[in-house]
Amino acid sequence: MTPDPDVLDLDPDHMRRLGYDLVDRVVAHLTGLGGGPALATAAPGDLRDALGGPLPRDPAPVEEGLARLADVAVANQQHGDHPRYFARVAGPSSFPAILADWLVTGTQTVASSWVGGSGPTTVELVACDWLREALGLPAPMDGILLSGGSMANITGLLAARAAGGPGVAYLSDQTHSSIRRGLLAMGWDAADVRTLPSDEGLRLDAGTVRAAVVGDLAAGRRPAIVVATAGTTNTGAVDDLPGIADLRDEHGFWLHVDAAYGGPAAMTPTGRTVLTGLDRADSVVVDPHKWLFQPYDIACLLVRERGLLDRTFTMNPEYLADVQGDVARGEVTMHNRSLELTRRSRAFKLWLTFRTYGADVLAAAVQRGIALAEHAQRRVEADPRLEVVTPAQLGIVTFAATGATDEAHVSAASLITEDGYAAVSPTVLRGRSVFRLCTINPRTTEDDLTGTIARLADLVAAAVPGVR
Ligand SMILES: *Cc1c(COP(=O)(O)O)cnc(C)c1O
Repeated sequence: MTPDPDVLDLDPDHMRRLGYDLVDRVVAHLTGLGGGPALATAAPGDLRDALGGPLPRDPAPVEEGLARLADVAVANQQHGDHPRYFARVAGPSSFPAILADWLVTGTQTVASSWVGGSGPTTVELVACDWLREALGLPAPMDGILLSGGSMANITGLLAARAAGGPGVAYLSDQTHSSIRRGLLAMGWDAADVRTLPSDEGLRLDAGTVRAAVVGDLAAGRRPAIVVATAGTTNTGAVDDLPGIADLRDEHGFWLHVDAAYGGPAAMTPTGRTVLTGLDRADSVVVDPHKWLFQPYDIACLLVRERGLLDRTFTMNPEYLADVQGDVARGEVTMHNRSLELTRRSRAFKLWLTFRTYGADVLAAAVQRGIALAEHAQRRVEADPRLEVVTPAQLGIVTFAATGATDEAHVSAASLITEDGYAAVSPTVLRGRSVFRLCTINPRTTEDDLTGTIARLADLVAAAVPGVR
């Protein structure tokens, strides 16, 4: 077959039908969540058989390929939007955000240079600023949206190094592993990365940071960056932000706060109290694709020092000279704020979410996630077979079956997940395997939690004679 010049184009009526069918499929997914498994996997060979084969040379109906993707690929994954997905961090998406992402994809929307994307750039600047305001952070801060907390963290750390140069970086034993990986990837000397012990609440205490900073200063080393976590992935613990910020004022290191998980809690009255001091960070990372109801992927980096991101990442090759924009006129070129050049607009979905629901409704949805973890804690306390390990904090509770082994916890979590009823990931705290529930999906019901907790206790009891 000789391809036509317009071979890529489909008939408009056909495109519409395909689009409507896809909308039906997505709406069926969203309204049927909870009916299917919370997580499904298949054998690599079976997936390769269904999705692989030699390079297709001949055309095939788009309906067939699309159905294959939906029925095989989409089906076999974690469903982070499922009401009983409690593993790692859920991703309860919302329809306005999905719509905005479709608009971006369907219209090749780009947020790179000013001239090439002044509209999408403005949406991104506004969305970052709305998020900043929603979290109670001071104005002004420069923002950029990146693919996830990992990329946003390394971008913030690169800016911090550009501002202050190398030195010692301080983390805790609960810091997300993307931070160490990022530091090493950017060439930070491994000998200058300190992992400080967290306190009994799994928080980084300012006293611990002070001792380490003073020790390094005495040894002639320069404290460069402290990474504090606002909502650890393991337990939802919040480091001593005010105390560490006071130390920063005294010693002048860079304070980077990783609020990838917990940041949105600052929209709620309880969370605002727990996250006191977040507003004193030099840079903050928040992941809207975790707790702000966004489809993957979107993370936000906010930096207090104006112009620093642009100074760190600006490139001015001759083939981009015509599109940079005029800084004096307030024109921002987003590709000068990170290592990305051509980039989709991740801002439309967040913008439309704020515009549609309003910050107060979103705050209520976040508050519900906090309350669900508190409900889970009460259920655990009411079951004589179980004990709370870390209390409900920012939508995460951990617990254990009294007297049961690490293996019993790991196996009960994998059995409930294989069964499809719920997805639960165990975690390890102070060397002990425990159950962990992350409850940030506002569509989760109290019955979903009650059923999951009872099943976990039953599974451990069935596996371990003597534990009842
Ligand atoms: C999830 C998480 C990250 C990494 O974010 P990604 O979006 O998965 O890259 C970093 N820090 C914390 C505290 C997190 O919970």
